[in-house]
Amino acid sequence: DVRHGPILYMEDVTVSFDGFKAINKLNLTIDDGELRCIIGPNGAGKTTMMDIITGKTRPTEGSVWFGSRHNLLQMNEPEIASLGIGRKFQKPTVFEALSVFENLELAMAADKRIFPTLTARMTGEIKDRIEEVLETIGLTGLRFQLAGILSHGQKQWLEIGMLLMQRPRLLLVDEPVAGMTEQEMERTGELLTSLAGKQSVVVVEHDMGFVRSIARKVTVLHQGSVLAEGSMNEVSNDPNVVEVYLGA
Ligand code: ADP
Repeated sequence: DVRHGPILYMEDVTVSFDGFKAINKLNLTIDDGELRCIIGPNGAGKTTMMDIITGKTRPTEGSVWFGSRHNLLQMNEPEIASLGIGRKFQKPTVFEALSVFENLELAMAADKRIFPTLTARMTGEIKDRIEEVLETIGLTGLRFQLAGILSHGQKQWLEIGMLLMQRPRLLLVDEPVAGMTEQEMERTGELLTSLAGKQSVVVVEHDMGFVRSIARKVTVLHQGSVLAEGSMNEVSNDPNVVEVYLGA
């Protein structure tokens, strides 16, 4: 059910820190339902770009739109989150002393749109949603397991599940496969691929093999701007990209 038109539109965005341009005239369009990977050397501006989208960092110049209706530069962080923009940081932050199920329950309760109207009927809906998310993240059989004793990969999937409880429209995912085994990486690829279409997913990732395995379209950032964009084959044959990566 991929919809048409961009979900995210950034035009000529610049961020200066004391005159240093961490982001420099960045143009980026993410289509609704797309899975996009963002790569680039350290210091390219990947984290700052994510911070701009979530409202943590304000651009000095440019515009950032969510869909055609929401000017993100006029909104604060909680307002942006409530539009359905979820961010997964690199380190998993699950509640270790709670079960997998309870972690997902808590993620739903944190949603201010649901909490004030919590009723028996809503509780049933939440249980259904938890089952659905458990299935999606492949942890159905581990629902009563304490999150603290999950493997690293399982914790990462649980945290993605916690974000999914809120039915985000755009998921920002920072280095999802860092520290994962080959097998966990493969399942993470399947998970992220399966999410795209239902929501848009932007993944910042250093592991090129993983990027190649999941992304149809890759954006290469360098010195705060887009250096190249296209399929992994296209960008990895781009002379500018080769120079940046071999020169680094
Ligand atoms: P990446 O995530 O691609 O490694 P970052 O977005 O973290 O890149 O950083 C881009 C550049 O901006 C780097 O040179 C970094 O040192 C600089 N930078 C990031 N945040 C700040 C800040 N708050 N103050 C000053 N410089 C910053």
